[in-house]
Amino acid sequence: MRFQDTPELAKWRTQVRSFVDTNWRAHAKPNEDEDSMEGPTDESRTKVWLDKLAENGWLAPAWPKQYGGADMSVLEQFVLNQELHEAGAPTSRQMLNLVGPTIMLHGTDEQKAEHLPPMLRGEVAWCQGFSEPGSGSDLASLQTRATRDGDDYVVNGQKIWTSGAHRADWIFMMARTDPDAPKHRGISYLLVNMKQPGITVRPLINMANGHVFNEVFFEDVRVPIRNRIGEENRGWYVGTTTLDFERSNIARAIAARKNVEKLAKYSRARDAAGEPVTRSYKLEIADRAVETSVCELLSFVVISIQARGGVPNMEASMCKMYGSELSQRIALTKMHVTGMKGQYRRSDGLEQTLGTSSAMEYLQVVPATIAAGTSEIQRNIIATRGLGLPRG
Ligand SMILES: Cc1cc2nc3c(=O)[nH]c(=O)nc-3n(C[C@H](O)[C@H](O)[C@H](O)COP(=O)(O)OP(=O)(O)OC[C@H]3O[C@@H](n4cnc5c(N)ncnc54)[C@H](O)[C@@H]3O)c2cc1C
Repeated sequence: MRFQDTPELAKWRTQVRSFVDTNWRAHAKPNEDEDSMEGPTDESRTKVWLDKLAENGWLAPAWPKQYGGADMSVLEQFVLNQELHEAGAPTSRQMLNLVGPTIMLHGTDEQKAEHLPPMLRGEVAWCQGFSEPGSGSDLASLQTRATRDGDDYVVNGQKIWTSGAHRADWIFMMARTDPDAPKHRGISYLLVNMKQPGITVRPLINMANGHVFNEVFFEDVRVPIRNRIGEENRGWYVGTTTLDFERSNIARAIAARKNVEKLAKYSRARDAAGEPVTRSYKLEIADRAVETSVCELLSFVVISIQARGGVPNMEASMCKMYGSELSQRIALTKMHVTGMKGQYRRSDGLEQTLGTSSAMEYLQVVPATIAAGTSEIQRNIIATRGLGLPRG
């Protein structure tokens, strides 16, 4: 594995960095925390920035140019992602990375023409309707029904944990179209306009008091058959396509490193202020620093497999599991180091240099090991596909 850029990639990195400096960093407010867990707060700045990315094809770097992408190689995408995340800049619009490539791979020309351009321009927000109250890890057991009636399906059922449904115009979802078939073979993949009768979105407030996800109810919702992606009853295979080419999780690795660097700086500032952090907590920070390097190296393993034309499988699971568990360990260390002063919702004094308060971060990272496949499911994949162990 090569750890240095080739001359071509170095040139590309310089180009990206200068673009980010001019179009993102130059517009930062004084004292802005670029790594805030709430993300950038200035919506108009974010919109202008995402429009600029879209203009360059950098919102969908892997897509062909004719659909608004940039036809980038795996390593060019990786460098782009590294630089955007180093700057704390947004990289995508809501769910674009999930539904966009699915339509690109499995959609008809009409579906591509109808959905991809408005998605890139940010005119239409999407949400993902996969999980149901009884179907999360075992997603193929989902029960929401889509029954044919003339040129439509009639959809009835419930989705849960639907992130951003309260802001979404469309939902991409899986529904059961053949209840008698084996569970993976009776599912279809549908694109559904949310602004129609029969759809109810109910907020779910998380433990950090944030409104991220929702329940979505479908009651006799009519969906034209032309809004199905792929064949009827083959939706499972559409839904499980390797959707996002960028599976290296470099975003999480960079965020972890920057977070630990801030913590080390804070610890030095406490020493200077005569309120030193205890030795055992300093050792804890050192452990986290080593772990962030491991996290970054795991990302390099994934990207080097992709660059050779391979498909990372258990390696992507290792990356996801390690990165999400590390984010929780870092939040715990931050709680230890800041003690009572970390318990404010908004940091004060020296703690302000840490950005998001320890208590808020601790709450916000709890779902990291659940969303997008729990740690247990990732371990199952590593055990069976990676180590060849029999299923339990
Ligand atoms: C922040 C966040 C955002 C989300 N956004 C969306 C979204 O936008 N759209 C969407 O569709 N879903 C979304 N989800 C749902 C997410 O995909 C599910 O929560 C996840 O797949 C787990 O499913 P579950 O919650 O039903 O838990 P379950 O599958 O019921 O699991 C419960 C526990 O049992 C364990 N377990 C289950 N099966 C096994 C097994 N075979 N072996 C070992 N252990 C097992 C799990 O690891 C877990 O600890 C989101 C979740 C979170 C936390």
